[in-house]
Amino acid sequence: MTFLFRSDAERGAIFAEAFAEALPDVPFSMDENDVAPEDVRYLLTWGMPDNLGRYRNLEVLFSIGAGVDQFNFDLVPDHVKIVRMVEDGIARMMQEYVLLATLALHRNLPAYLDQQRHRLWSPLPQMQAEERRVGVLGLGVLAQAVIERLKPLGFSLSGWSRSARVIDGVTCHHGADGLDEMLRTSDILVCLLPLTEETRGFLNADLFAKLPEGAALIHAGRGPQLDHAALTDALDDGHLSAAMIDVTDPEPLPEAHPFWSHPRIILTPHIASVTQPASAARTVIENIKRHRAGLDPVGLVDRRRGY
Ligand code: NAP
Repeated sequence: MTFLFRSDAERGAIFAEAFAEALPDVPFSMDENDVAPEDVRYLLTWGMPDNLGRYRNLEVLFSIGAGVDQFNFDLVPDHVKIVRMVEDGIARMMQEYVLLATLALHRNLPAYLDQQRHRLWSPLPQMQAEERRVGVLGLGVLAQAVIERLKPLGFSLSGWSRSARVIDGVTCHHGADGLDEMLRTSDILVCLLPLTEETRGFLNADLFAKLPEGAALIHAGRGPQLDHAALTDALDDGHLSAAMIDVTDPEPLPEAHPFWSHPRIILTPHIASVTQPASAARTVIENIKRHRAGLDPVGLVDRRRGY
């Protein structure tokens, strides 16, 4: 019942140590050429191996990241559980990133960076946090962690999900009508949706048109959710004021892409949040114990929904 770790050796060493201590009866391997394929019960990977079928006794396919959009579900046998990474390290980093981005946009940082480049000293009008409405697309693990971090700053908070949710201190919306209502009242829109067929191309011209004049975007979901041209158009015609973008399609962007030099875009290279090996190893070990006890692992993906 081997656990096959298919990622970088540095993180693998941390996983190996944690497994030796907590699950000594589960052989741990970082080398797919050194294990009998039929022994592999658990596989942790980012990309999907071409030859997944050869692991015919596979029970759980773990993603090393929070998303599973890189997997082709059709190639994963029905009985294999697909599990995304739900661990404290990812949530903590995403809290930091969205806090950083929200404060940057709230305090006009893109405009001041541009002023600095032009040697211009010119204070802009400043709203108070209670007047600034922050709307979060997605109300899952990461979005809820982010919302808890934003609460003490006093922003007016709302969120949108597929199913109805109740979160203290947050105006929760769901469904198509709920989306329009939230967009209408979001001065800063944060995208923390998973990439699925429904969310591909979601951040587009129609959506931007529904935001209030001068709204700003934080995109930390997945690159293919954003229509790049629609964003630059909305910034250039002044409807949107600024954006902080962590994920693009493709990654990295080509050298001539307008995002690199747009004065009102702050671009980061998909670093909002990264799986932290020590906490991730604890999570995976707990999930194997749950699976062996007949329980669903935390982060079990619903194949029909796609996340
Ligand atoms: P999660 O717990 O599965 O939450 C997903 C949320 O999105 C849920 O609230 C879900 O609604 C909502 N949702 C999904 N599809 C929807 C739709 N069609 N309409 C309305 N709401 C929809 O996921 P998570 O752990 O918070 O992670 C979210 C995403 O963040 C990941 O999938 C990944 O793409 C991205 N991410 C990015 C980075 C980075 O470094 N930039 C790092 C980690 C993760 P329900 O609540 O109704 O299910």
